[in-house]
Amino acid sequence: MSAESKRYTEHSRTDGLGWPPAWLSGRALTASLCLVSACTCSSSTTSSVQTDDNDRVAIQGGANPSVLAVDGRGRTKCLASELFEGTGIIDLNDRIESPTGCSTEIVAFSSDRAVELKAAPKWTHDPSNPVTLAVKPPVEVELRFYVPQGVPGVATEAQDEMDEATALYAMNRAGIAFKSLSTVAYSPAQAVLIGNGCGGGNAAGLAKAGASLYDPGVINVYYVSQINWSNYLFGYNCYLESIVVGGSNAIGENIIFLSLASRPPTTLAHELGHALGLRGKVGHTYGVPGFTNRNLMMSGISFNAQALQDHFSLGQGYRMSLDRLSWLNHARPSGAAPIRAGDNRPCQLTVAAATGDFCPPLALDQ
Ligand SMILES: [Zn+2]
Repeated sequence: MSAESKRYTEHSRTDGLGWPPAWLSGRALTASLCLVSACTCSSSTTSSVQTDDNDRVAIQGGANPSVLAVDGRGRTKCLASELFEGTGIIDLNDRIESPTGCSTEIVAFSSDRAVELKAAPKWTHDPSNPVTLAVKPPVEVELRFYVPQGVPGVATEAQDEMDEATALYAMNRAGIAFKSLSTVAYSPAQAVLIGNGCGGGNAAGLAKAGASLYDPGVINVYYVSQINWSNYLFGYNCYLESIVVGGSNAIGENIIFLSLASRPPTTLAHELGHALGLRGKVGHTYGVPGFTNRNLMMSGISFNAQALQDHFSLGQGYRMSLDRLSWLNHARPSGAAPIRAGDNRPCQLTVAAATGDFCPPLALDQ
């Protein structure tokens, strides 16, 4: 049951947290907050003011301010996800030293540009020669909606929910925008094929149903009366289901069901988060330190609380844009190339580092 958003339910976690946990107040906590003007990071504690060693990052093509998450060698140890904010040329002060002996990367987040990763930047210590980072427009992800014939307003609601998702991803600097080039109004006969959930071979059946009911190159979003014949579920992403497309095995990450009966308008943004790699132990944020009910991947809370959700962390944005698990970063079931070009990361699959690359903590934010 890890792919769903649902209401008033126990959760699969067994850590004994009551509900609501005591930490659920206010917005997400800050894991490592360092701004240019005041660095008090515990991860980079220094005992005295240090001179500027002249490392700078020049954001090229940016408009709104960017937040940089920088890994590199500090004065005494390796630093990870040090945060800086600015526009144009951003001074890293004296926190990042030479790359020797430490992994180093720069990631830029902003509200009007794609998340951009520069792996292994070459620090110059020369103010006239900053490290450059070219940022591009947000990555566009195509959705295809399926709405029931004869039910007025659903196609418009779908567009509105997509626009809300785009706005939510932008305001959290996630660098992804959604578009839809076609909406299918399905007949009562097609409704039988679409079914009302992922399981029981339904997702696999959809993938075989033909071009009118499934497009392997986009994210398919089916508005159905209920999911699993219940109002309990708001939405469901079928990433746990195996499908076969053109003779090749794939997973149903690009199949989303939304409940006409019970969803709040934020559920599409949540299910898209699953498509973009927020899954399993880095999926739902219920019980995860650093997150509140405002986080869009918080499940197991009420309709009204989910309707108010408006937050992704930078750590979540990093994974959605850069993790190889994300819909953006691997070949699609159609065989089409990944949507996003550029460096990506095989992130560790737990909230803390475990396996894979060390990507920022999920709760990293500023
Ligand atoms: Zn979910």
